[in-house]
Amino acid sequence: MICVECGKESEIINNGLCLDCYIKSNRFTKGPDFFNIIKCSNCNSYKFKNKWETESLNEIINKVILQNFKISDELKKPEIKTHIIDDNQYKKQLELKITGLISNLKIIEKKVIQINIKKEICDTCSKQFGGYHEAIIQIRADKRNLKLEEIEGIYTFVLDYIKNLQNKGNKKIFIADFEKKESGITFFLSDNSISLSIIKKIQEIYAGDIKRSSKNIGMKDSKQIYRMTYLLRLYPFTEGEILSNKEKYFYIKKISKNKIHLVDLAQWNENIFDVKELNNFVIKGGNEFVKNMIFVSQTNDEVQIMDQNNYNIHVLKKPKKILFDNDTIKIIQIQDKIFLFPISL
Ligand SMILES: [Zn+2]
Ligand SMILES: [Zn+2]
Repeated sequence: MICVECGKESEIINNGLCLDCYIKSNRFTKGPDFFNIIKCSNCNSYKFKNKWETESLNEIINKVILQNFKISDELKKPEIKTHIIDDNQYKKQLELKITGLISNLKIIEKKVIQINIKKEICDTCSKQFGGYHEAIIQIRADKRNLKLEEIEGIYTFVLDYIKNLQNKGNKKIFIADFEKKESGITFFLSDNSISLSIIKKIQEIYAGDIKRSSKNIGMKDSKQIYRMTYLLRLYPFTEGEILSNKEKYFYIKKISKNKIHLVDLAQWNENIFDVKELNNFVIKGGNEFVKNMIFVSQTNDEVQIMDQNNYNIHVLKKPKKILFDNDTIKIIQIQDKIFLFPISL
């Protein structure tokens, strides 16, 4: 066949044209000369298809190009490479190089495009600036202030938990505000269901009871909107403290959810109580009762120890069969009562 353009005898590809003439008179890629990409001026996320994404600018540019450039089906194994020619903060010029095959002939098409970066504030940041919060979580303790290690532990836990979700790309969650005091910690959070899982996780670690309440804060899309408050009240006592029910003294070995593991100091028996069963128990104190005394001697049933402050010798009954082999013996002293510190056997 003869090409209608160059008159050469050749295989005809399309419209009476040979391969060379067909390629010369056609472009196989089509797309705009410039794009606007919207960037949040606060958190640096980018808007793509009406959603705010935390991906890098390069990834967003690639997505925008792939979405807007039409490559003809005739071009087989198409590939787009981008190369930055001019890199200003808000205006970037890129050269696109599109390659592909037509009848095994490699086609290269180049195009220069401009990317304009426009600034806006994303939905999350504008909510954050407005103090938006769907839920409040409060951590208090029953009949006492929070301990320093509880305040720091819970505060760090919440911050890490939220940072971790944000790093995984969760754009909905942020801390709108918080209060951190001895009397309690309060977080104002942007997402209700995440707030609930946070307070449950804190309860797993620190125990206590959760109370929920809600407040109607108006209408949205003809639905009532409620703001939830989750209050976790920690128990009046903590692990490592000594309780007494008048007859006996107990060491709090473990608190999990609403179960308290108590060790009877005289017997070293461990019993699990429900928090409600401890209403008549009195908190005697904590670490200030734990001391070391000097080991003197022992028999099967007793151990002799010496108080290094006044050189008094005390003879204590061993609650369980145990052989001491240390120079010092850990004890719990409550006024004139001395107990061997319970050891798990
Ligand atoms: Zn031709
Ligand atoms: Zn933002």
